Amino acid sequence: SEEAEGLHVVLFPFLARGHIPAFLRLAALLHELRPGITVTLVSTPPLLAALSLPVTTPPIRLHALPFAPADHGLPPGAESLADLHVHQFITFFQASESLRPAFEGFISGIRSPVCIIADAFFAWTAEVARARGAFHAVFLPGGSFGFAVFFSVWEHLPQTLAADEEFPLPDFPSVVLHRTQIPRYMLTATGADPWTAFFRRVISSCRKTDAVLVNTVQELEASGLDMFRRSFGVEAWPIGPILAAPTLSDSQVDASIIRWLDAHPPRSVLYISFGSQNSINADQMVELALGLEASGRPFLWVLRPPLGLDATDGFKPEWLPPGFEERTAKANRGLLVRGWAPQARILAHASTAAFMSHCGWNSILESLYHGVPLIGWPLGAEQFFNAMVVVEWGVCVEVARGNMESSAVERGAVAEALRTVMGETEKGDEMRRNAGVISGAMAAAWEGRRGSSAANLEGFLRCVETPASIKF
Ligand code: UDP
Repeated sequence: SEEAEGLHVVLFPFLARGHIPAFLRLAALLHELRPGITVTLVSTPPLLAALSLPVTTPPIRLHALPFAPADHGLPPGAESLADLHVHQFITFFQASESLRPAFEGFISGIRSPVCIIADAFFAWTAEVARARGAFHAVFLPGGSFGFAVFFSVWEHLPQTLAADEEFPLPDFPSVVLHRTQIPRYMLTATGADPWTAFFRRVISSCRKTDAVLVNTVQELEASGLDMFRRSFGVEAWPIGPILAAPTLSDSQVDASIIRWLDAHPPRSVLYISFGSQNSINADQMVELALGLEASGRPFLWVLRPPLGLDATDGFKPEWLPPGFEERTAKANRGLLVRGWAPQARILAHASTAAFMSHCGWNSILESLYHGVPLIGWPLGAEQFFNAMVVVEWGVCVEVARGNMESSAVERGAVAEALRTVMGETEKGDEMRRNAGVISGAMAAAWEGRRGSSAANLEGFLRCVETPASIKF
């Protein structure tokens, strides 16, 4: 209960470290457009505790919902997908639905008009909003094309996958997919499995929302946005790029990474990272290492243990080719980072030439915002479809797909991709030019608060504030 009469926006990101920064940035933008607004970020105690202080200026209220992973057969400390083995992900998604009663309780205690903005994986909050007479929006954690395709495949499982190597998507026949672009757990889904059930619940809830906010730019993803609108029958407002503010961490690790970049010439270093929760497999890791060595180019590689291997004792030297780290370190050619890297700062650094990425949407936006072209290696979820988008934009060369045993990657192909993208090649020049154009379009979307994304967030807020949208 509270005094405020004005709009109260409740933000509810999914319980994954990579999903929270965009919501925090959104909160800051909402405050900028509506200085009097109340914004509350709802999450679990450990995730809220992990937020660093500056995020609360302008003031964001925090509200903790109790969450007991152990009640669902998960490790007691599990607070985020990144803490779990990939086999536990579905249990975690299901467990996250247990937050509903506590979330309902919180919403019903708010007296002022409410607008709930929830992650797509919390789209069930649309039903909570409806019961309360509140406005509801989904904030999509990815791009519109990527999610329109990802959801469409789930909806048409298993028929879609019974097809050949290549198949047109039932909802969008002009989109032709290849089997290698289908995540492992989708390939084994029968349609009666827990993954399909979960995503079909997400999709049907998304159809009940009042609006979708997408972290993309109208000028860049017009057709993907149309696909999304047609598929969900709901307005999709592109308000991107919503980028996490680079944290000015003063950790020694971060400082040494930046010093290492400082010591390299402009646009010379390949940055490699597969996101906050994915990993390549053991064979792929060795081939990638040997390909990097063969390329002769400097690289900064954020290492996670190979897929499926136990990481409780840390990263084991035998996961890399013998002598690899010593040789490349001695030649001052390679820096291996174990743990969390200051990605936004790395991509903003003048020495960074290209980004080998799993094509997570945040990584794509951060890279192109700084005009850095991509070497794509999508691993799961909608990353395969995000890769299609950046390849079409002419800013990405795909070097490999997936991390299944069958997804072989060859060291020669790695070295060749680096030469194409980072070298003085026609293709490389073109990719750098295109990345510059996209970077410009991204900056323009929020420039002077007058670009398309600024106008869209304003349009969205007006829609929320229309009396017909919010029931008192
Ligand atoms: N990230 C980071 N350091 C790391 C790994 C990831 O800062 O070592 C950040 C990255 O900058 C991005 C987010 O985590 O903002 C990852 O989001 P993305 O959508 O790219 O992939 P996901 O982790 O969700 O698969």
